[in-house]
Amino acid sequence: MKSVALLLASAGMLIAVPSAAPAQNAAQVDTVDTSLPTQLPRTAVPHHYALTVTPHAERLSFDATVAIDLEIVKPTQTLVLNAVDMTFSSATIAPGAGTAPLTGQAVANNAAETVTVTFPRTLTPGAYRLELTYSGRINTQANGLFALDYKTKEGADGRSLFTQFEAADARRFVPSWDEPDYKAKWDLTARVPESEMAVSNVPTVSSRPLGNGLKEVRFGTTPTMPSYLLFFATGDFERVTKMSAGREVGIVVSRGNGPKAMTALNDEAQILPYYNEYFGTPYPLPKLDNVAGPGQSLFFSAMENWGAIFTFERRLLDDPAFTSTADRHAIFGTEAHEMAHQWFGDLVTMAWWDDLWLNEGFASWMANKTTQHFHPDWGAEVDHVGARENAMGLDSFATTHPIVQHIRTVEQANQAFDSITYRKGESVIAMLEGFAGPDVWQRGIQAYMRRHAYQNTTTADLWAAVEEAGATGLTKVATDFTTQPGIPLITVGPARCVDGRTSVTLTQGEFSNDRRSGASLSWHVPVRASAGGAATQVITQGRSTPMTVEGCGPLLINAGQTGYYRTLYTPAEIEALRLAFSTLGPVDQYGAMQDALALSRSGHQPMSSALALIDAIAPTANGKVVERAVLNWSGLYSDLNGDKASQAAIAARIGAYDVRLQAIGLTPRDGEPPMDALLRPVLITELGKVGDPAVVAEANRLFAAWTQDRNAIPGSLKSAWLSVVARNATPVTWNTLHEAARTTRTQAERSSLYELLSSAKDEALARQALQLAISGEPGKTISASMITAVAEAHPQMAFDFVLTHLTEVSPLVDLSGRSRFVAGLVSNSGMEALIPRLEAYGKATFTPENRKPIQSAVTRIRWQAANLGRIRSQTAAWLKAHPVTSARRQRGERG
Ligand SMILES: [Zn+2]
Repeated sequence: MKSVALLLASAGMLIAVPSAAPAQNAAQVDTVDTSLPTQLPRTAVPHHYALTVTPHAERLSFDATVAIDLEIVKPTQTLVLNAVDMTFSSATIAPGAGTAPLTGQAVANNAAETVTVTFPRTLTPGAYRLELTYSGRINTQANGLFALDYKTKEGADGRSLFTQFEAADARRFVPSWDEPDYKAKWDLTARVPESEMAVSNVPTVSSRPLGNGLKEVRFGTTPTMPSYLLFFATGDFERVTKMSAGREVGIVVSRGNGPKAMTALNDEAQILPYYNEYFGTPYPLPKLDNVAGPGQSLFFSAMENWGAIFTFERRLLDDPAFTSTADRHAIFGTEAHEMAHQWFGDLVTMAWWDDLWLNEGFASWMANKTTQHFHPDWGAEVDHVGARENAMGLDSFATTHPIVQHIRTVEQANQAFDSITYRKGESVIAMLEGFAGPDVWQRGIQAYMRRHAYQNTTTADLWAAVEEAGATGLTKVATDFTTQPGIPLITVGPARCVDGRTSVTLTQGEFSNDRRSGASLSWHVPVRASAGGAATQVITQGRSTPMTVEGCGPLLINAGQTGYYRTLYTPAEIEALRLAFSTLGPVDQYGAMQDALALSRSGHQPMSSALALIDAIAPTANGKVVERAVLNWSGLYSDLNGDKASQAAIAARIGAYDVRLQAIGLTPRDGEPPMDALLRPVLITELGKVGDPAVVAEANRLFAAWTQDRNAIPGSLKSAWLSVVARNATPVTWNTLHEAARTTRTQAERSSLYELLSSAKDEALARQALQLAISGEPGKTISASMITAVAEAHPQMAFDFVLTHLTEVSPLVDLSGRSRFVAGLVSNSGMEALIPRLEAYGKATFTPENRKPIQSAVTRIRWQAANLGRIRSQTAAWLKAHPVTSARRQRGERG
């Protein structure tokens, strides 16, 4: 671990940031940890940056100077820092404050994302101050310093500036050692229009007018932190605040949006003391803001800048005219995630991007835990299983990667923000918490926070802390699941009942769609099972593990669904499970259903095994389980495109959930259970998708009323009802929606309307939406999601369009998401004919080591092309053999 020695007094330490770092020892000279990867020469270590920036919002550029106090650790004549899109006007270095400086020559290399400063003589090891004067660019996507344009409440044009630096975009704002283990303190000064509010990680310490319409705002000194957590924003903002656990929590929004910030503010105030207690280390900064950005990104929705979280408006503002219950839950979940990062990531940071999952897996897991704690009726325990399924969707292809992976390039770091890092990370942590027990796990986390505060860690540091807290054997399980790719497959042998106990043999293999043969990996899998009595747990050892479970009821493997593996039962066992399905809890129903569906789709068992379980979900089941069953049918409906009879049979099965919609009603009721409020729009959307006559008629009626009165549809159902109309849009309804999109001032609602315009089944309208996306009308950040929305129903059309309009489309996609954007348009298309062009695009655009998303998409397309026929024919046959009678349908009964 690197120990940081602050050798030069930092400028402007006007605000006391509580216990910023362990006591500094001036005699302690920095040693560079050569075991860590780096893209910069290990010749110098920065300790403190004093940065002064003057943005020119109207011409999308900025001027800046930075003074960096650093330690040179090896004799050198050059210093290499990260920098992109910058022009340097001066570079000097002085050994210590107040000494005559040497002038250097700064040469930028944009391709390498560096600037090399060469001095007239060799600099010997010791303390220096490096000063650079430069100008840079303000971007229009969320990379570096960027602008978001919006309509003010009064309808005028507004422009605010924000920063987004993770993974490696601080180098677009400040020449820096832009790697996570180069932690330093920061002092930021900004010259902004007098009427604006500037925000950064820590509070303002002074503000003075400069006499030219600008003011100079100085912020306090941050604690020691990596460059990617620095934050700056300026705009016509208002800030709502509250005190919580002795800290000021705030939400910063465009002026006029204050009332929409109260939900997020209350969430923030509620979560902070809970985290202080959970982590055992109180939140160390004087304030915690969450800053709303009027725009969006395909790549992320929020960023955990220390003390100044950034969140796009649609995940932060609660607008009664538009926000759905699911959105409101997402506001809480996003805030809980970003706040967890204030400890996991900000206070303790991964040493290198290889261990990004320490940040993201943990914050995702913590957000779910926090939601379960404060909102036990939101169904978050079922979402946990959803996260597992999301991860396995990627992890079941040979192109997957281990949770801990080797990252070499910036592009690879960007690509690391995926379902494996987030969702598999979250799932594995849930499994390990189950293994350790929640109390031991928490004690381990607290020790880890205390031990590594303000420093950097690797995954091994976390396992060591939890083992020391009492989780003996955890490292073995944890290492298997974080350093190996893929999913264990537990094949269950025939169950035998002896003296009231069930005995089975578990055989371990690997679950994969496309890596069926070949050397199988092996894991120590904690398997929990029940058979009517108390649940039992074993850890698999090698290929075959015997297990005995209390009771002789239907055998349920992965009881509680915290295990990260798939379970393949014998046909007799899965039939016994189906017959007892209504007695299982929602989490197990959900998990067993999704397990079965994945195994059937991959060909490990016939489709009938899964279809029978989906069919066993009663309309009265838990809302999240019903939602999943309906979405499963809806997915199969798309798979069976062109097979009218089977699609009608599936529509009838989705139609059987009408009774649930009737029971909960078409309009929100005061005080209704949150699960009803969540399920209602899902049923409306999915019934509408398969053309349910009653739902379509109601959607048309509401749409007509809405054209006269924008309040005719309840705000929380607006997206759902309009989605039914938009999908089936005619030129007339499409134009009406377009007019609404054009004139709506609320940014989140506006972007939702543009996305709806892109969901039309009609080809001509889909083409019109693509043209609209590059017309400039929607604004800079909505277009990418419009094109993605068109690709859902028309993948080839969207793909062709993007390839022929690359020059117009590229600036509309943020840099960090570009390698995934084009691949994402067609990865679920199953169209093999597109592969050569996709590969050619990848070859022309990315270096071989950065082409992973393209390879992934190609693999997925090939797999789908090879397997869809089997899935279709087996599903069609099952549907034929299991018709839904109209009487059953009306009563909502299942066979
Ligand atoms: Zn995160």
